[in-house]
Amino acid sequence: MKSTENGKLEKTQSRSVKGIITSIATREGAGFAVRRPFPTQSLSLVDPFLLLDHMEPVTLAPGAAKGAPDHPHRGFETVTYMLEGHFVHRDSAGNSGTIGPGDVQWMTAGQGVVHSEMPDEELLENGGRLHGFQIWVNLPAKEKMIAPRYQDIPSSQIPIAESEDGKVWVKVIAGKSMGKEAVIDTKTPITFLHVKLEPGAKLEQAIPYQYNTFAYVVEGKGYFGKEQLPAETDQLVLFSHDGETVSFEAADKQSLSVLILGGMPLNEPVARYGPFVMNTQNEIVQALQDYQNGRMGAIH
Ligand code: FE
Repeated sequence: MKSTENGKLEKTQSRSVKGIITSIATREGAGFAVRRPFPTQSLSLVDPFLLLDHMEPVTLAPGAAKGAPDHPHRGFETVTYMLEGHFVHRDSAGNSGTIGPGDVQWMTAGQGVVHSEMPDEELLENGGRLHGFQIWVNLPAKEKMIAPRYQDIPSSQIPIAESEDGKVWVKVIAGKSMGKEAVIDTKTPITFLHVKLEPGAKLEQAIPYQYNTFAYVVEGKGYFGKEQLPAETDQLVLFSHDGETVSFEAADKQSLSVLILGGMPLNEPVARYGPFVMNTQNEIVQALQDYQNGRMGAIH
């Protein structure tokens, strides 16, 4: 930030780096391996983001693919972004669909759904490649009990921005980048970009000053923020609030694939228990009771 002559703060510069977090290896659902930069002991959330799971690129043997069988959610949104392989989704609201490479599913759990997220039959029977992400986005208190909503966006409908020299590629999942605007409707203001940079290429991305913002390195090595700090595969770079852009560049001899996530913080109390994220402990107890009493429905 710098002061102008009339004393106002001008927030146009590139944000500095607040911290770099290395993700931990853990298991989710029926036991599929994920890398998780948060929530962990050192970073519980990046308001409004509650969780980031990276299903690392793997080649699965026949019968080895695992998913997340029927389970509930209430009070937030789950966002799935696939890079390789196909997952089949079914839920208690009667929705079902398959998402494959480049597709995004943005599910607003709201008052509650029961859903399953499973590898498709092809992947289950014959094995194959799997790579993807799941992100949890919190809902504000006033929207935690809204009706569930389900946006299944095929890759072909998600805008791509590319630099003239072809060295910068941006998939605009939420928000805006390089003149392209996302088609997905989000309940809270969010930027979600998948950026690929050729070796040595750089991007300075505008992000509203108030947004909490991080970069997650999917693959490769790059230099981040005003200080140009190095980060590589599976590391999360958390930015400070001292500018209106985030800047990063790929290392000289390596390309860089990175997710950029920014969101307006809710600044509300967070009570979380497994698949339920509410504001108070009482609301968590209520969610458990509602689920146990079948009020979130079942998959038919
Ligand atoms: Fe789920």
